[in-house]
Amino acid sequence: MANTIRAEIARDAAALRAEGKFVSLACVQVGAKPESQMYVNSQKKLCASLGIEFHMVQLPDTISQTALQHKIHELNASPEITGIILELPLPSRLNTFIAQRAIDPNKDAEGVHPVNLGLLVYGIAHHAPCTAMAAYQLIKSTNVDLRGLECTVVGHSQIVGKPVSLMMLHDFCTVTTCHIATRDLALHTRRADVLIVAVGKAGLVKADMVKEGAMVIDVGVNRVPVPGPDGKQALTEKGKPAFKTVGDVDYDPVAEKVAWITPVPGGVGPMTVTMLLRNVVNAAKRGHGLNL
Ligand code: NAP
Repeated sequence: MANTIRAEIARDAAALRAEGKFVSLACVQVGAKPESQMYVNSQKKLCASLGIEFHMVQLPDTISQTALQHKIHELNASPEITGIILELPLPSRLNTFIAQRAIDPNKDAEGVHPVNLGLLVYGIAHHAPCTAMAAYQLIKSTNVDLRGLECTVVGHSQIVGKPVSLMMLHDFCTVTTCHIATRDLALHTRRADVLIVAVGKAGLVKADMVKEGAMVIDVGVNRVPVPGPDGKQALTEKGKPAFKTVGDVDYDPVAEKVAWITPVPGGVGPMTVTMLLRNVVNAAKRGHGLNL
């Protein structure tokens, strides 16, 4: 599915370039962030393969809030830049919300500006948060009629849990959004026809917490130690402690019970970066006054 959408993005980007119009993503990163480097690399690689210009804007770890906002305003004003992403996390002394608000909502590739989040309340997803949109698109791709279904979302973050809850509500699901204060998580997950889990805790959702035949979207990304034959953590070929990436859902036993499930890695992740670049191309089209 990601490949189909990527082909459409490449076609749209080529059409824009053929008319001499810019289509580009500026990736703003403050300091060296090994934890987000993998995501930055995949953006860069995918931009290159789809014909979208990629501008890395590397800023020093010591940058002030004002200087960061000034840089973002410069990118807002540049006709060569049609999409902007601010890599998180920022150093803790900087205010993320204020920095994200500095991005022009029309260039907001990640869909995190309050204007774009607010538009979701009206069912307008022009610049929807990429991960929420990725989960939603995967659900829609099943062609299951969502009207009247019970949907449980675990996690209520601004970029995943809350926006995907709104999207499912727009499709007339009965939505329950769970969070850290939810008293009986399993009570809500067990009655879900569609279960979306976006927490960041490996093994949070076990097989006895899901309904037979449900649809499960696992957004979580967790690095966990790989156990060795002696029960201790295995080592890589280079003798370093071995880790693997898993989601929030106990995949194998849950997969036996449900009708649909997304794997980690390889499920929501590839769709998220695809949605990011779809936002970039759509923003470029709108910026150049073209209809979508
Ligand atoms: P986040 O901002 O940390 O949000 C996690 C949410 O889970 C919070 O709302 C938190 O509630 C809730 N939570 C924590 N423990 C819980 C529990 N035991 N039961 C129910 N809810 C609980 O994280 P995020 O940015 O939404 O990301 C969630 C996960 O998705 C992470 O693993 C992240 O790495 C992954 N992710 C994947 C992609 C992708 O492309 N695949 C993209 C983005 C994120 P409180 O706030 O009340 O504590």
